[in-house]
Amino acid sequence: MSKSVHVERTRDDGEIDPAPTVLELDGVTKRYGPETAVSDLSASVREGELLTLLGPSGCGKTTTLRMIAGLERPDGGRVRVDGSTVADDRTFVGPERRDIGIVFQNFALFPHLSAAENVAFGLADRTDEEREARVDELLDLVGLEDHADSEPGELSGGQQQRIALARSLAPEPEILLLDEPFSNLDVDLRVEMREEVRRILKEAGVTGISVTHDQEEAMSISDRVAVMNEGSIEQIGRPEEVFQHPKSRFVAGFLGHASFLTGYVSGDLVETSLGPVGRDRIHGLATEYDHTRIDVLVRPDDVLVRPTENEDDADGHVTYRRYLGPTVLYRVELENGDVVEAMHNHAEQVSLDTPVTVELAATHDLAWFPLEEH
Ligand code: ADP
Ligand code: MG
Repeated sequence: MSKSVHVERTRDDGEIDPAPTVLELDGVTKRYGPETAVSDLSASVREGELLTLLGPSGCGKTTTLRMIAGLERPDGGRVRVDGSTVADDRTFVGPERRDIGIVFQNFALFPHLSAAENVAFGLADRTDEEREARVDELLDLVGLEDHADSEPGELSGGQQQRIALARSLAPEPEILLLDEPFSNLDVDLRVEMREEVRRILKEAGVTGISVTHDQEEAMSISDRVAVMNEGSIEQIGRPEEVFQHPKSRFVAGFLGHASFLTGYVSGDLVETSLGPVGRDRIHGLATEYDHTRIDVLVRPDDVLVRPTENEDDADGHVTYRRYLGPTVLYRVELENGDVVEAMHNHAEQVSLDTPVTVELAATHDLAWFPLEEH
């Protein structure tokens, strides 16, 4: 009865073999009065994939999810599920006819129904026997086969989320939507549940679309991440790809601390205030940028900061430090005014105002941006 699991096949070039497209958003727009919440947004999602919409609060993530579910009607563009149009300027298929499940932020379980009865809720059209078998299968999938008779109030936050997931998956939706699914859980539980939710969706073989403002969560659970800003997708790709090769400064900054080193492109080298960097280490630097200035993206794990006794050797000074427990984040102002951030183990403490040498220690290629017009 349960769907077959879509097994991802990784090709020699590292790309995942494309499965059929299940959801297509084509130039979708939603306005509230004078405000455009979602603007001309396009994306397609493949069968069995887990895509996360990631972006700051108010960028249009929930509105996008609600248009996919059929809880909002777009003002422009088209939504297609499994090749059929469910929303455009002439068509609107209601949420109950879209074959799409939703897991709400607060789980929205029925407090006076048992876990099993909650899971059975969307299975009214099945025979008693079928319903019982499906509920058992789902409770087993989410690891709560021993809690069938418990009421939500007797379950922990993580267990309630498992029941909410099981209930949404029970009618075998084509697509499952999750809006900020971990925001009601304690920090420790969040990390555990991220992995659980990913496992459960993969085992169920369902296509998932989640929404979060937490970049670590998005990176850790998703097959692909769509980074949103002001109602649009700025970049969509595998987590490694968007992190390593951000297409905009916004994406670079949103996925973790981003600092920029000014560089002058000169033949095979890019001259920076931390010394020359081989041109081959700057990702996709086109020849038209020869003899121009660019900004090279450096992240806190790309640089090493060492205190020095001798002011003349120093590349800059520590202007800010933030103790984070296992690590310390340093901000260093370089002699030419560039500012870089460095992350170090907590055992290596450097005090404020200390003269430091700074080494660009990254072994991977570096992203860059043309200099911003001022
Ligand atoms: P996110 O989920 O990324 O935080 P939302 O999709 O909830 O963002 O909201 C996007 C923008 O649309 C916000 O500026 C928000 O204030 C506005 N908005 C969302 N829903 C409504 C609504 N029902 N009425 C008016 N404005 C709305
Ligand atoms: Mg939201």
